[in-house]
Amino acid sequence: MSDLAELKGFLPFSLIDWPGKISAVLFFSGCNFACPTCHNWQLAQEGHLLPALAWEEVVSKLKKDQKWLEGVVLTGGEVTLLPYLEELCRELKNLGYLVKVDSNGFKPQVLEKLLALDLVDLLAIDVKGPFEKYSALTGKKVSVEEVEANFTSIFALAQKYSHKFYFRLTKVPLLTEKDIELTREYLPPNFTLHLQEYINPKGRNKLCQSR
Ligand code: SF4
Repeated sequence: MSDLAELKGFLPFSLIDWPGKISAVLFFSGCNFACPTCHNWQLAQEGHLLPALAWEEVVSKLKKDQKWLEGVVLTGGEVTLLPYLEELCRELKNLGYLVKVDSNGFKPQVLEKLLALDLVDLLAIDVKGPFEKYSALTGKKVSVEEVEANFTSIFALAQKYSHKFYFRLTKVPLLTEKDIELTREYLPPNFTLHLQEYINPKGRNKLCQSR
């Protein structure tokens, strides 16, 4: 692959981004939402202002670390917007890596294709809260019907590829305990909603972790 314009960050080693795996993390800019609680707000909304990393250098480091590194996490931003996501996953697979994709789940057709081609090993999907609160949670007008239709597709995929889905919710201030309980009930049987604590990033008093 040639240089990836949206590749803005690379963490060569992480024990927390893929529970149970030693991983590297690639950060991509751009997002279809503008969550007021986004932890990676600059990356999601102003990523075009950040310099891109040289893909060849990242590949060369990944080749060097193959002996002990197990997987690569693709995160953002929202990586399902990347036109080269499929190619990128394929290249990482060819390097011998397991691949995890973090997503807000609003491009189910993109995720379906990755799964069908066996290019992804784990999908971590944010379920942000009750469908009625999605507009407030994401900073984007989105109807309840749209959210519902979207998650109907995602949950159908999860039932088909059950070992490849990990659902999570960040406990942002807009959510009550009742909201969290309601969100948990959306999930198909035998899936867990993994809760993440809300962390207020430095310098953004109103903006917090939601990815
Ligand atoms: S929290 Fe996720 S979905 Fe929301 S703006 Fe940030 S990257 Fe996008």
